Amino acid sequence: MTANALVKQFYDVVNNPGNAPREWQKQQGGRVIGWLKTDVPEELIHAAGFLPYGIVGGKTKFSRVDAHLQSWACSLMRSCLGIALNDELNFLDGLIIPHTCDTTRMVSGIWRQIHLLPYMENFFLPRQVDRASSKMFMLAELMRLKESLEVYSGSAITEENLRNSIALYNENRGLMRLLFAMHEKTPGLISCRDLYTVVRASMMMPKETHSHLLEQLLQALRIQNNVYQGRDKVRVIISGPVWEPPELMDIIDSKGTVVGDDLLTGFRYIASDVNTEEEPLAALAERQLNRIPFACFDSTQNPRRQFLVNLVRQKQAKGVIFLHLKFCEPENYDYYDHKLALEKAGIPSTRIETEVGGVSVEQMRTRIEAFFEMLGGI
Ligand code: SF4
Repeated sequence: MTANALVKQFYDVVNNPGNAPREWQKQQGGRVIGWLKTDVPEELIHAAGFLPYGIVGGKTKFSRVDAHLQSWACSLMRSCLGIALNDELNFLDGLIIPHTCDTTRMVSGIWRQIHLLPYMENFFLPRQVDRASSKMFMLAELMRLKESLEVYSGSAITEENLRNSIALYNENRGLMRLLFAMHEKTPGLISCRDLYTVVRASMMMPKETHSHLLEQLLQALRIQNNVYQGRDKVRVIISGPVWEPPELMDIIDSKGTVVGDDLLTGFRYIASDVNTEEEPLAALAERQLNRIPFACFDSTQNPRRQFLVNLVRQKQAKGVIFLHLKFCEPENYDYYDHKLALEKAGIPSTRIETEVGGVSVEQMRTRIEAFFEMLGGI
């Protein structure tokens, strides 16, 4: 199969969100557990015999959401709730909501009232990830979640099952990192939009199938490797929660290329693996506490502003595009510090305010194109 035909299959998953989990349910007769946003240990859900399904918003009607969530909540959570209210998630048997910010805390209570599922859990995460107490807290929370999943499934999550799930997820992350490396070296080989669609699809379909397709895609791209180049494109870093709306990536693709990010639905999702040498729960805790920094989790040893400066230098990027969702308080609070740190390091940046769920990209186009021109692009 050609690379284009394979990439199309990832788009099919993302554009028809319920199809992959429904197909899995039909074939396996199993239960699907959704998780909101990111930072939920999918390996535990998988090891319990369920299909983890990432809910990261999308195009939906917001009219029914307004009755439950104020219009000044972020559009990521508003669109997730909208999808549920419009019965687009009726294949879910359960849901795990990570408590990352005030909005997710609110959504946790609201979701139970409007769309109660047989299994609903919260997942609590420490904010200051390098405090001595954080690892203890994280480990206790993982144990609690494991027990809760065991009660719902009716059987124990064995160490062997958990290790197998960790290996499966590590393998999938490793394959996606290979794709990122390929894109970084030869940006013309696979567009930014295609690349990030592959990541998004991995949250919405069985990892086994995703890895299988991805291996084929990598192989097809290796064969094409000398055909496309694009190595002279202007290189930028993207920072923010999610790459929305997806058409933004087309604008970036037409002017330059993304060589690094800290997006929840981007490289941050796959950047690090779970250490298979350690006790599995301790290793899951360790991974969570050492992930790429994000507005909701602060690290004094690896603050995000310094992480961004280092990333720009390491990737030889020319600038940073902040993609901030309107009303995302954690990102907005941190922005000034990030901008200042980049300025001090002589790195240009621009901030684009975006929304999830069908916003027009035309205004953003002008700003992104102007930024690339300023960086010396076409
Ligand atoms: S961190 Fe921002 S984008 Fe994520 S749920 Fe909270 S407010 Fe929304």
